[in-house]
Amino acid sequence: MKWESNVRKVVPYVPGAQPNKEKMIKLNTNECPYPPAPGVGKALQEMNISDFRLYPDPNITGLTQGLADYYGVKKEQVFVGVGSDDVIAMAFLTFFNSEKPILFPDITYSFYDVWADLYGIPYKTCKLKDDWHINPTDYMQENGGVVIANPNAPTGLMESPDTIEEIIKANPDVVVIVDEAYVDFGGVSALPLLEKYENLLVVQTFSKSRAMAGMRIGYAFGNEKLIKYLNDVKFSFNSYTMNKPSQVLGLEMLKDKEYFEEIVSKIVNTREWTKKELAALGFSFPDSKTNFIFASHETIPAKDIFQALEKENIYVRYFNKERISNCLRISIGTDEEMQTLVDFLKDYVKAWRQ
Ligand SMILES: *Cc1c(COP(=O)(O)O)cnc(C)c1O
Repeated sequence: MKWESNVRKVVPYVPGAQPNKEKMIKLNTNECPYPPAPGVGKALQEMNISDFRLYPDPNITGLTQGLADYYGVKKEQVFVGVGSDDVIAMAFLTFFNSEKPILFPDITYSFYDVWADLYGIPYKTCKLKDDWHINPTDYMQENGGVVIANPNAPTGLMESPDTIEEIIKANPDVVVIVDEAYVDFGGVSALPLLEKYENLLVVQTFSKSRAMAGMRIGYAFGNEKLIKYLNDVKFSFNSYTMNKPSQVLGLEMLKDKEYFEEIVSKIVNTREWTKKELAALGFSFPDSKTNFIFASHETIPAKDIFQALEKENIYVRYFNKERISNCLRISIGTDEEMQTLVDFLKDYVKAWRQ
């Protein structure tokens, strides 16, 4: 077919499976096991569907202002997108317009190389050390931009604020994106560094700690100039990115700080319990500051465990990829879900040892 030679061919990102079984334990895409705040349900019921006739607010004014107030920045320093995937994709398109390669770790969120390929941005990956930490000096070579997930996925490890600052400081000529999808579970945000560095973009999301993956809400903080450039690209792409319910319900979720802190602390407690249980069963893992654990077993191959769990309708994430093919990424669910997982693994490990 001749027309095929004109097609933009890409290798797409493969999201975690979304099985939908009645009795399943879904620990494969780092969703929150708890529902959004009660105020979200109330606001949803009060929505007037007649408003759906109209286009939503292209400036996402309410949610943008809400985020600015919540985090103590100016609204001109906030960009809101349809999930942080949308925010980061827009940021790649906006800021990575150099002939030089952008840099990110070899083991990290596997969407970065997909966007780079899609937009034709050259990139180079920097090998994580054997302890899964980054080597800051790797990010001091010539580059067209830097992307760091902190805490990182799928390792769950956090880099210190000093390490992050060192990288931002060493790269004044390019934009450094810090992807903080998991920061609320025990990370330290780079947000305070905004005052010192105008090349920093901090990206966060409602999908994990704010229990609203299905609403697709992500946001970024940067200096006003950076955010303006990002909006210029957004408005050249699609003005009405975020639908009305997401704008309204996202703001409702943001209002209930107490509920948010309660679910995050529950997840952190469950994570720490799960770490102890898994360690006792012969698993090892980096010290997670996220809502997942990246575990490998001392004797049983990850793939076998993955398949055995799947038969039980317990879904975790397995990456058939170099360096991490013996690890499972296990999202933190409710206490009951993690108990069921641990109970199954106890029997499974015991049977394997016999
Ligand atoms: C989940 C995740 C995202 C994307 O989340 P959205 O649902 O698009 O907000 C971005 N980066 C990392 C590292 C993630 O794990």
